[in-house]
Amino acid sequence: MLFSEKNIAPLVGDFTRLAGADWALEPDGWFTNAHRVVSLNQDPRPLGVLIDLLVIHNISLPPGEYGGPWIEALFLNRLDPLAHPYFTAIASLRVSAHLLIRRDGRLVQFVSLLNRAWHAGCSSFEGRCNCNDFSVGIELEGSDHEPFTPAQYQVLNAVTGDIMRRFPGITPSRITGHSHIAPGRKTDPGPYFDWDQYRMALALPLGPTYPEPERVQ
Ligand SMILES: [Zn+2]
Repeated sequence: MLFSEKNIAPLVGDFTRLAGADWALEPDGWFTNAHRVVSLNQDPRPLGVLIDLLVIHNISLPPGEYGGPWIEALFLNRLDPLAHPYFTAIASLRVSAHLLIRRDGRLVQFVSLLNRAWHAGCSSFEGRCNCNDFSVGIELEGSDHEPFTPAQYQVLNAVTGDIMRRFPGITPSRITGHSHIAPGRKTDPGPYFDWDQYRMALALPLGPTYPEPERVQ
């Protein structure tokens, strides 16, 4: 049974999409067929920056609960601080990510990959700070306490392939977790994220690459 979780409806007849056949990363940095929810929590990348890091996160709101509207609400600055005790402390945060992959594999995009999403916070990769400047951030709906779903890995693999073709500076060694770039402050994507499975999938042939690394004009 592919979808073993409670409360997750199988995407009947939609597996070609999960396999990535319908995904396309457009020149403007948006994925076709992603559910587009534009966040204001973004700004231009520094001029001339090379996009050469991919950061994997997990998020669930409230923590450990899935399927609600709260992640979108947070990224749209519309989270009701009174809707749940946990929200009081985070409702005023101004954060976003480029992509969110729901438990059932649905892809949501908040920010064009060409722009800076506010996902990494205070962070450093190989001595370089402000990872938001040069990274793409993908949130998996999940937590540090249970596995992610097969549907999420399918979609993550597919979009990662598209992102690596578009931004060749993002090599397998430049795909990392939030906990790695913000140690002591962040723990996601957590111990249940299967890096081995993900990296094995990345070793598959990626098809033709774009001729030049993408630089922000
Ligand atoms: Zn994170």
